[in-house]
Amino acid sequence: MSRNPDALPGFAETLVAWFLQHGRRYPWRETCDPWAILVSEVMLQQTTIPTVLGRYGEWMRRFPNPAALAVAGEQEALRSWEGLGYYRRVRALQATARAVMDQHGGSFPRDEASLRALPGVGEYTAAAVLSFAFNTPAVLIDANVARVLARIYDDSTPVDTTDGKKILRRRAEQLLHRGNPRAYNSALMELGQTWCTPGEPLCLNCPVRTFCRAKHPASLPAKKQERTISSLEHWDIWCLVDRTLLLDLQPPTARHAGMYRLPQRPREEVEELPHLRDQRYSVTRYKVTRHLHHALTPVAPRASERFIPLSGLDSLPLASPDRKLILSLLSSSGFLLPSSGAARQR
Ligand code: SF4
Repeated sequence: MSRNPDALPGFAETLVAWFLQHGRRYPWRETCDPWAILVSEVMLQQTTIPTVLGRYGEWMRRFPNPAALAVAGEQEALRSWEGLGYYRRVRALQATARAVMDQHGGSFPRDEASLRALPGVGEYTAAAVLSFAFNTPAVLIDANVARVLARIYDDSTPVDTTDGKKILRRRAEQLLHRGNPRAYNSALMELGQTWCTPGEPLCLNCPVRTFCRAKHPASLPAKKQERTISSLEHWDIWCLVDRTLLLDLQPPTARHAGMYRLPQRPREEVEELPHLRDQRYSVTRYKVTRHLHHALTPVAPRASERFIPLSGLDSLPLASPDRKLILSLLSSSGFLLPSSGAARQR
């Protein structure tokens, strides 16, 4: 009988045993509620664990089940997502909540096909719900898992190629702990977050060191393409009139659809105006620089722009960099801004 080169007898059991003793306790690991699992997965897609930890509890109190989010207004949902970024995720989550209510009577389906038929639920998210909520054997491959598997098997096939992905899936299926997929999948991710980290891993204390074939782990995983970062600049205006601020409602096609931001203008229109501040931040593959200029006289609002009372800013959905900048400018120009809400002048 030929030996399966992907087989690593005892690997899954060793990993699960380590995780059950040392795994970190996150709120989404303390529940089997598919809604709570789904929310955590969606939040964690593009947001760091510390940031999600700071927001998850509050969000779940506000929307403890699909019914609560299904009936919420879009602006309320967007506002509640502020600080987490990538707002299309909360829109998709709301669409999922409505589909669960309308098509499944408020209960999550337990099979992959029905889960994937929900709006915004792809292969990975469906597998996460199956595995973490229902303890169903389902393979999860994220960046952490890809890195760990490439190293365990000492494989330099680029993980972002069709071949690389096929190999990863085959090995992930081979290794999966079918008796406890919930703990196993969490364990594999945690291994990638704690010991088998990007760059130089911490092999000395790794719980699965005896199974690992990596000779030069820091060089793995191999990738076909490195992501290129581009610079982006835009010029915005600050127009504050009688305790109202000119803001621009983003159209449905925009990245921040349904949210407000400071109005943009062509550079040549604003560069003669007094310069207030530059703001720099990163979004996906862009490094953004915003140049903010002060419109000393009221400007005529464009169709999508309107003057918003400062007292209404707290409940208004605003892109995070905009809220940060606006609060900072209002504060430094003499407005006291209690975190509870309305701005008031000293
Ligand atoms: S021994 Fe090192 S490279 Fe291998 S899985 Fe553990 S941390 Fe990763």
